[in-house]
Amino acid sequence: MTDAKMPLRAKVASSVSRTAAALSRAAGRGDGSVIGGWIGLKIDPDLLAHLSAGRAIALVSGTNGKTTTTRLTSAAVGVLGRVATNSFGANMPSGHTSALAKAGSTPYAVLEVDEHYLAQVLEATEPHVVALLNLSRDQLDRAKEVAMMAQLWRAALVRHTDVRVVANADDPLVVWAATPPGDPARGIHPPHVTWFSAGQRWHDDSWVCPECGSTIQRSGEQWWCTGCPLRRPEPHWVVEDEGVLDPTGAWHKVSLQLPGKVNLGNAATALAVAAEFGVRPVDAVSRLGIVTSVAGRYAQVDKDGRNIRLLLAKNPASWLEAFDMADDAPTLLSINARDPDGLDTSWLYDVDFAPLRGRQVLITGDRAYDLAVRLDVNDVPFQHVRTFADALRSVPPGRLEVIANYTAFQDIRAELDRVI
Ligand SMILES: [Zn+2]
Repeated sequence: MTDAKMPLRAKVASSVSRTAAALSRAAGRGDGSVIGGWIGLKIDPDLLAHLSAGRAIALVSGTNGKTTTTRLTSAAVGVLGRVATNSFGANMPSGHTSALAKAGSTPYAVLEVDEHYLAQVLEATEPHVVALLNLSRDQLDRAKEVAMMAQLWRAALVRHTDVRVVANADDPLVVWAATPPGDPARGIHPPHVTWFSAGQRWHDDSWVCPECGSTIQRSGEQWWCTGCPLRRPEPHWVVEDEGVLDPTGAWHKVSLQLPGKVNLGNAATALAVAAEFGVRPVDAVSRLGIVTSVAGRYAQVDKDGRNIRLLLAKNPASWLEAFDMADDAPTLLSINARDPDGLDTSWLYDVDFAPLRGRQVLITGDRAYDLAVRLDVNDVPFQHVRTFADALRSVPPGRLEVIANYTAFQDIRAELDRVI
């Protein structure tokens, strides 16, 4: 809806929201996207719905990869026209409200949505398409159990069967969430769902069938429930070699500036979502290569002959992905357990650090000693450093991979800003 067509209350709320965000930025308090949206919603609780009306919207949700996939999808949908997006990862309704208010009237929006808020944001924005990436455990002491998240997603999608769904065929919880309950054709998958295969490196949250409680079995890329018809659907979009196969069987080379096979999977998802808006993959694929770092992730910084690359890993699944993305080079691991990270570090024991054997491994962060015990058990030799500057001095010139959880990542970014 353009500003001119909005109800007066929504117009005022939208304008105040933009002003508050600008004031917050001017005061040096981040990009202001949360505070601006929060104030706007206080004035008009329906502001997000008003701002969404008239736009074709895609929502992107899941535990991991949603910030990057949102960026890639915005780039792909950008073939058609201007796209509003919450590119700073402010992924709750206040962030969406602020992003849409700030963007003004755009024909399209691609919004990253925190998995806990998907139902609420579906309701408010009435999107054209929802992309469901994956579900795995996140911070142990606060996140809902993953099966409960899948249940919430499913209940929300049942109320919105007109919404196109683009979902990961490799994640049993996602497949179950995207399949309506009580469907007599269960096991045959609903026609409004497009499946992509982006791989699932982390299986530990999906050994049990969410439908019947039986064991999920796997063989190669296939998986199936041993007690009911739930099984991996045939994906329409598939990562193959350095590219993506589309539903017509055409293969598109994907040249990304982002590392790892996991980002090829994110690219496949972006192409699948864009296709729901009528974007041909052949037109979108070159635009994916313009995405470099995403909110500082994957950023590369050169300092004292070292090329430092920053990888964020916030939960067990994303640690495995980070090992896959990292080159065989000296690697600094940093762990904190502050509020945004979750206070419980016992998840370290769910991650197999063996891929790091043979690399020079350095550790730092508030909880470096937890990491030390874990690496020792895993037979990975390491060296403890107190600061990022010490880490730089301890490695030879060349690539240094840095893998850190949330606040540790922010600490290192702040330290890098100081030394540069
Ligand atoms: Zn089952």
